[in-house]
Amino acid sequence: MSENLYDLLAGRFPADRTRPCFLLSDGSAISYGELEAGAAHVAGRLMAEGVAPGDRVALQAGKSPEFIMVYLGVLKAGAVFLPLNSAYTRAEVDYFLGDAEPKAVITDPPAWVAAARAHAPLAQSIERSAGDLASLIYTSGTTGRSKGAMLSHGNLADNALALHRAWGFTPGDVLLHALPVFHVHGLFVALHCALLSGCPMVWLAKFSDAEVLAGLERATVMMGVPTFYTRLLANPAFTREAAANVRLFISGSAPLLPSTFAEFEARTGQRILERYGMSEAAIITTNPLDGARVAGSVGYPLPGVDLRIGGGEETGVLEIKGPSVFSGYWRMPDKTAEAFTADGYFVTGDVGRCDPDGRVWISGRAKDLIISGGYNVYPKEVELVLDELPGVVESAVIGVPHRDFGEGVVAVVIGEGDEAALISEARRQLAAYKAPKRIVFVDDLPRNAMGKVQKNLLRQQFGRLFEA
Ligand code: AMP
Repeated sequence: MSENLYDLLAGRFPADRTRPCFLLSDGSAISYGELEAGAAHVAGRLMAEGVAPGDRVALQAGKSPEFIMVYLGVLKAGAVFLPLNSAYTRAEVDYFLGDAEPKAVITDPPAWVAAARAHAPLAQSIERSAGDLASLIYTSGTTGRSKGAMLSHGNLADNALALHRAWGFTPGDVLLHALPVFHVHGLFVALHCALLSGCPMVWLAKFSDAEVLAGLERATVMMGVPTFYTRLLANPAFTREAAANVRLFISGSAPLLPSTFAEFEARTGQRILERYGMSEAAIITTNPLDGARVAGSVGYPLPGVDLRIGGGEETGVLEIKGPSVFSGYWRMPDKTAEAFTADGYFVTGDVGRCDPDGRVWISGRAKDLIISGGYNVYPKEVELVLDELPGVVESAVIGVPHRDFGEGVVAVVIGEGDEAALISEARRQLAAYKAPKRIVFVDDLPRNAMGKVQKNLLRQQFGRLFEA
């Protein structure tokens, strides 16, 4: 039997194919039947143009239903889907195209799909086995060259089924989808849950308070990055009533601040469900649907995921094994070898610990580790203390070159206050070597499209702070 991910998804589409899949902002809808036909025409056109199973197909474009038709059509044709962030520049795109050597590059899905509909036949799915490559996802690569994570049909299918079950999706759900679709979160996590339920999605090209607020009137599940939730909370129209139709708010891709979790609960009476994942393994842990959702914890490993802490200490780098873990980096055997332990665990690079009952807490990225005067400082530990101090909305702690200490701890803080007073407050709660030596106040922190604070930019901006 074919293990093509497309066939698994399409096997769950509603029997009545006139049911809506995409609910669009202009009030119109695109049905499951149209999605299915679009994907079949895309596959037909790709095959007609000589794209063979295993060939890469790159797509760089804004979000649209046709983007998804191309994605599904590529799977159907047995080819490998390569989504590229629409913000990438020409030079960046050149690198990906040179590395992945796609057979086709699509930049205007609506026009491309329209031509496929007009001229290409409806194609059948190509048979695939679970280990065959389905998608190449380039990591955001803040250090060194971006690497293409190779995800198979089996990796994606397994994760989709596990999440669909864990989060209790049913055909009666309506998913609010405001995430970008060039990233695992919007493309796999959110989309697959909806397609496996055969349920509609409120389909927003991007996050806007007004459109999300309107969408929440009919949605039952929302998936977002933490910034979506902070932006909703900043809008007084986001009330308990505005959230009342939604059974589940899910957050991931970056840490959700405990203060956001608490404010959200106070405002809506609902607890955001936080989960943790990455391009190389899709979702790894989740808080429970039924049971305690705890602020600051990313919950428990999904069924089938074996998670351990490397290095033999209580806190260390999380290592995982499981059905959704990728097979390696595209054409980078050395990087692949470095990423796995001798006994086959993937080294995530995220630092954390496990409770006695198996709950996982993440305390930062290994590469964010600051070594000051020979001591290890985990930025997250310092940020948690700072975030509780009066006047601090959010903090990002970085290491900056320092003549005496090698690196000096610097906190970049959204908020206002007196630098010296905050530092001495932090020192009361933290060992002196962990407390920031300098605090800089800013209006906002630089973030990427997935809401992650770009510490590399902060390190550049404040890199000479101790030289003065
Ligand atoms: P990406 O491959 O772009 O999805 O980035 C994956 C990284 O995002 C992970 O390795 C984590 O560092 C971070 N991340 C994702 N979800 C969470 C979360 N819930 N809490 C903390 N960090 C997260």
